[in-house]
Amino acid sequence: MKIELKNLQKTYKDGKSALKGLNLTLASPSLIGLVGPNGAGKSTLMKLLTANLFPSSGEIIVDGLPLEKQETLFKSSLGYLPQEFGLFEDLTTRQFLDYMAALKCIDKKAVEAEIDRVVSLTHLGDKRNSKIRTLSGGQKQRVGIAQALLGDPKLIILDEPTVGLDPAERVAFRRLFTDTAKSRLVILSTHIIEDVQSACDHLIVLNRGEVRYAGAPEELMAQNDAASLETAYMALMDGREEE
Ligand code: ADP
Ligand code: MG
Repeated sequence: MKIELKNLQKTYKDGKSALKGLNLTLASPSLIGLVGPNGAGKSTLMKLLTANLFPSSGEIIVDGLPLEKQETLFKSSLGYLPQEFGLFEDLTTRQFLDYMAALKCIDKKAVEAEIDRVVSLTHLGDKRNSKIRTLSGGQKQRVGIAQALLGDPKLIILDEPTVGLDPAERVAFRRLFTDTAKSRLVILSTHIIEDVQSACDHLIVLNRGEVRYAGAPEELMAQNDAASLETAYMALMDGREEE
């Protein structure tokens, strides 16, 4: 899968310009880390990439065709974890995943096995029959990740997936995302540089609606003669962080 962003702009109704003309190419297989301070435009970009929001101008081209010309097909190969993700608190983990599987039109006969697969990937086996309202923040986040993986989509977009996870869970998820991205396109946003440093092969730094860097994380470190990605990122952001 290849996604090309051409002069992609988003201005909200109140006049707020969230994305100011992005030009990027995203191609599988890859684990892409989207990084930037609050308000940089990460969630806006992810909403545009998942056709939850439409650009004010510019284009998203998927495998050579404009996204809006193939929206249904595109959505059928997409897994998405929004930043604000409301779960159905009165359902159990299994019931919720079953519900999401139905929305994704996953074959009835394959549903149980597919739920088993994502429950096991997200280590939720012991929470399978627990109501979502009884889960911890990190466990709920894992349910959100599990539903994004349902149906084994070719494109997986995760908006701040590691928020609320404890350090051990975070390490486990980096490994899962790395494995998943071997044959897919996985895009995750984070403000934790360590998530990117240890897992992503491609880094996009956004600030104030503009791309500040796109390329290999190692290359950014080399450019700034930095010993860590954190240092290179700070050098890039110097004086430019959103207040
Ligand atoms: P990030 O995810 O990087 O924190 P967002 O994409 O959420 O950034 O926001 C980018 C900018 O757009 C911010 O200045 C934010 O206040 C603004 N914004 C986001 N959503 C809306 C909206 N629905 N209406 C108006 N402005 C918005
Ligand atoms: Mg966001």
